[in-house]
Amino acid sequence: MTDVGDVGEVGGVSDASDVAEVGDERGDLAIEVIEADLGYGGAPVCRGLNLTVARGEVVCLLGSNGAGKTTTMLSIAGELPLIAGSIQLHSKPTTAPLHRRAKEGLSFVTEERSVIMRLTAEQNLRLAGVATERALAFFPQLGPLLDRPAGLLSGGEQQMLTLARALGRSPRILLADELSLGLAPLIVEELLAAVRTAADSQGVACLLVEQHVRQALEIADRVYVLQRGRIVMSGTSAEIARDIETVEKAYLTGVVESGSDKTDS
Ligand code: ATP
Repeated sequence: MTDVGDVGEVGGVSDASDVAEVGDERGDLAIEVIEADLGYGGAPVCRGLNLTVARGEVVCLLGSNGAGKTTTMLSIAGELPLIAGSIQLHSKPTTAPLHRRAKEGLSFVTEERSVIMRLTAEQNLRLAGVATERALAFFPQLGPLLDRPAGLLSGGEQQMLTLARALGRSPRILLADELSLGLAPLIVEELLAAVRTAADSQGVACLLVEQHVRQALEIADRVYVLQRGRIVMSGTSAEIARDIETVEKAYLTGVVESGSDKTDS
């Protein structure tokens, strides 16, 4: 585990070379964020960010509220222009907007369930160009629900449909920002298992922001911890899990864990 700062220490402690090495050793990098300043209207929220995700790898980005996780995801997705540094997808620097990155195989999923409520589950899949069998391979539990309007599915089922639409298109990169926000632990487990399967069976490079930290660590390969816009710790999931209580206390205060009262299954 690379702890690039004392617990509680914030400023000027990021050791970018350590962080970059972990991914470089794996080769075949799908996402590379290099010395990047990311933010809004030219004002950086994240500074000197270095982060990699390899093909077939699941990487989890952790941090407390306001740490810069969504800013990082939006920047990699092409929704926010870079302030400094570079972002490379599949070894090519890019400044393309989201719709072009999407055409090249990037799927961006957020907590907002991107399904059309008045259409049935099957129509939602068809509209996304996803064959029903491909969706059911990830989520067989959607089978009996195919004829039901998405608006009548539970929150968890809607999010399964959202993820089935994203994964069924065989993306090369999946960005999932709080995919399972407010959902019950069992549903979270099913969503995360599908992400792991996509990485293993299709080589999808997956970057997750996840509030269900302990569940995410069970399926992720590696973790970066962000604090006030800087990476202050990185390591394998096993390394971070071993020290999870310290990590939670130091860096993840304000993070809602499983059992939150904001549950919607
Ligand atoms: P959370 O877990 O609460 O979603 P986060 O780690 O995803 O937090 P971000 O949403 O990336 O954090 O926010 C990081 C910082 O950027 C915060 O200080 C936030 O106020 C600021 N920020 C977010 N969106 C904007 C915006 N559109 N314009 C200016 N600043 C913003």
